[in-house]
Amino acid sequence: VTVRRTAAILVTGSEILLGRTQDRNSGTLARSLDAHGVRLERIVTVDDREEHLRAALDGLLAEGHDLIITSGGLGPTHDDRTVAIVAEATGRALVLDEPVLAEITAIVTGYAAQRGVPVERLLPGAIKQSMVPAGAHVLSPAGTAPGVIVPGATTVVVLPGPPTELAEVWAAALVHPVLADLISAQLERRILRIWSTPESTVARAFEALGGDDHGTETSICATRLEVEVVVRFPPEARVAGNRLADGLVEEFGAAVYAEDDLTIEARVVAALCERGLTSGTAESCTAGMIAARLGNVPGASATLRGGFVAYANDVKTAQVGVPAELIERHGAVSAEVARALAEGVRERLGCDVGIGVTGVAGPGGGSEAKPVGLVHIAVVGPHGLGEALERRFPGDREAVRTNTATAALHLVRLLLQRLPAGA
Ligand code: ATP
Repeated sequence: VTVRRTAAILVTGSEILLGRTQDRNSGTLARSLDAHGVRLERIVTVDDREEHLRAALDGLLAEGHDLIITSGGLGPTHDDRTVAIVAEATGRALVLDEPVLAEITAIVTGYAAQRGVPVERLLPGAIKQSMVPAGAHVLSPAGTAPGVIVPGATTVVVLPGPPTELAEVWAAALVHPVLADLISAQLERRILRIWSTPESTVARAFEALGGDDHGTETSICATRLEVEVVVRFPPEARVAGNRLADGLVEEFGAAVYAEDDLTIEARVVAALCERGLTSGTAESCTAGMIAARLGNVPGASATLRGGFVAYANDVKTAQVGVPAELIERHGAVSAEVARALAEGVRERLGCDVGIGVTGVAGPGGGSEAKPVGLVHIAVVGPHGLGEALERRFPGDREAVRTNTATAALHLVRLLLQRLPAGA
């Protein structure tokens, strides 16, 4: 029987407890651990006070996890104490690691030259950052701080705080032999993304299929308009895991839009690329969010022609070609104007798929006929194909705008699915 490894994360940083910085590192690590079959049991966040850090680390060590990962507190100054406290807690001396000192010295020599400061000023910091627990494995720095793996009954991985540095050093840690051994007991996963279906409906279907009674571990999570189901199972429960996932796919049919970790925007960009089609947006209430989400996907430039932030009525008319009398007759928030925005951007930018959205994001500006949250979305494509949606989204301004963007991307997906093959 597969025994799952367990882990805890220790996030350090007063700025996080002050609400100034949002913790991104625990999410990065949590998703990665889940993907590797490791059960994350706890996340602890502490400020930079030495006694707090020490108490938190001692507490986590006493809990007997297989793995503890720390984030932050590796800077060159003496108030960055994570490595020293990990050394102390694991009963190891701090020793100078010569190879990493050479690496850091080369890095800070480059910084010093760029900034015109004498390198001597940075050397004490480089020496401080090269002190590691005796017997630890050193991971090359992504910034100036190296990561450290301290093996033991509980293996402690010490990572830098800046999120891109943490991600880079963690990627190196994952392939280090010490960790590769720890996380080799892999769970398999089936990820299903289900569009526009209530979470409770998905939960009922899951229960009707027998739930997690046969060795699976399933999470059902509603994020805005999508429900993400992750069925995890060890090799010995593979049959049950697949039966559960297949049952859900059958139950929800076309609403299951993905069996992977891809976002809807990544899926849309891929589908446009596959068909050699381009897209453009004319966005009123989302003011560019749809274009931004498409633009976030690597390779978007092959498919995204551009977009209009068409907020004011005269901009809708002058820039996107929405007839003024159409706005006059139906109002700016209407199916007709959404359609005209989609057609307008298609024509003005010469793209294959035009996306138009208009709505009342709130909190003000609603009326009885057009309440806050009402949105109209239209997508037009080749062969006269079109998709349209009218929805009234609950929630605040941010929720209405985000949901509108997500729904618009789904309409593009649905339209592309209807395109004749080879078109
Ligand atoms: P540095 O060498 O930059 O001091 P460090 O390893 O000591 O790195 P911290 O000092 O804890 O890391 O954090 C440096 C910066 O990285 C913080 O100001 C913050 O902007 C960002 N940061 C740290 N931890 C997190 C986190 N958990 N989530 C998001 N950002 C973080």
